[in-house]
Amino acid sequence: MQKKRIAIFGSTGSIGTQALDVIRANPDLFETEILTAQSNADLLIKQALEFKPNAVVIGDETKYQKVKDALAQTLVKVFAGEKALEEAADFDSYDMMLAGIVGFAGLKPTIKAVEKGKPVGLANKETLVVAGDLIMQKAIEKRVPIIPVDSEHSAIFQCLVGEARNKIEKIILTASGGPFLGKKPNYLVNVKRDHALQHPNWAMGAKITIDSATLMNKGLEMIEAKWLFNLKPEQIQVLVHPQSIIHSMVQFEDGSVKAQMGLPDMKLPIQYALSFPQRIKNDFPRLDFRKYPSLTFEEPDVKTFRNLALATEALFKGGNMPCVLNAANEIAVWAFLRNRIGFLDMTAMVEKTMETINFIEKPTMQEYFDSDGEARNFAASLINM
Ligand code: NAD
Ligand code: MG
Repeated sequence: MQKKRIAIFGSTGSIGTQALDVIRANPDLFETEILTAQSNADLLIKQALEFKPNAVVIGDETKYQKVKDALAQTLVKVFAGEKALEEAADFDSYDMMLAGIVGFAGLKPTIKAVEKGKPVGLANKETLVVAGDLIMQKAIEKRVPIIPVDSEHSAIFQCLVGEARNKIEKIILTASGGPFLGKKPNYLVNVKRDHALQHPNWAMGAKITIDSATLMNKGLEMIEAKWLFNLKPEQIQVLVHPQSIIHSMVQFEDGSVKAQMGLPDMKLPIQYALSFPQRIKNDFPRLDFRKYPSLTFEEPDVKTFRNLALATEALFKGGNMPCVLNAANEIAVWAFLRNRIGFLDMTAMVEKTMETINFIEKPTMQEYFDSDGEARNFAASLINM
């Protein structure tokens, strides 16, 4: 069997480093073709020395010389800047992209990979939230598989194996509820960044950790699921399941429900995406049901965690609304992480931006970019008010 050559976009992040763990453990199956990072030059250099990719891209151009010098004795090609990300995605030399960049920044390289006909393991959910219709259309045109890495979507994807002819009645996206499950607005108003960065079940990058605390993450995932599995908004239900053992479920037309379960560990969905349709043996810790005598479920509290209500509204409204929601949320999380706004201000910022930006029912890609820019500018203008 030929080794699969993997291009990891966002290799220094939580997803990227865990993808490299999977590659390190399976040297007969995978090799590393491209690695990219925004600003962590030291880690990118270390990764390049270990995995010897064909090329690396450092987003921050001021760090180019440092990376170049450190890799001077190797065959690794070094590129820098935002444009270089797209150029690297346009290379012939890789077999699969792992899209592990966070936020809107992941969109352009991912589009390039799809246009190029490269299979994508998709962690970067924002890509589908922003322009899911156009991305999926292009993927179908080019016959490019988009394999979800997000644990819930990987669960649904796994439940659907062998069910191609069977209609989905609904999917049930499970949510841990985050660190503030059960809390009310009078508590949340005083929450600070360091507290919000403590997730009970998952260790992840800062942005998605905050999104998990506000439940925006689950809202983004509803939109992601709509595009990945071609669902109507009414077919997507969110259920809080604090143990994070059931990663999500599919209910079919006969009422039968399939669930995918396991310990919360992103390496499993990452590995599944890289090796699909095969499963590969590993020595990750196994789920012992006796240690989880009760799996519990509850309705999400959308009155308190209003980001989930806003995302649901954007899901139903469609058009550029999810793109606007996403852009405002990226600014809001950025500002919260810098202690510029409070926890509940994030929701207010997203809501005001959704009310303000012009609605477009069937945007072109350019209109998605424009909506993103307008929404960011408007949201940023709210920070110092
Ligand atoms: P992270 O912050 O840990 O890593 C982000 C990576 O993207 C880094 O390598 C960084 O260098 C790069 N990056 C950041 N900004 C960039 C920019 N402007 N241009 C180019 N590169 C940039 O994030 P993460 O937690 O690994 O999440 C990555 C994506 O995967 C997100 O979309 C997230 O929602 C999704 N995801 C993550 C997890 C998880 O467990 N971490 C789970 C499910 C989905
Ligand atoms: Mg998820």
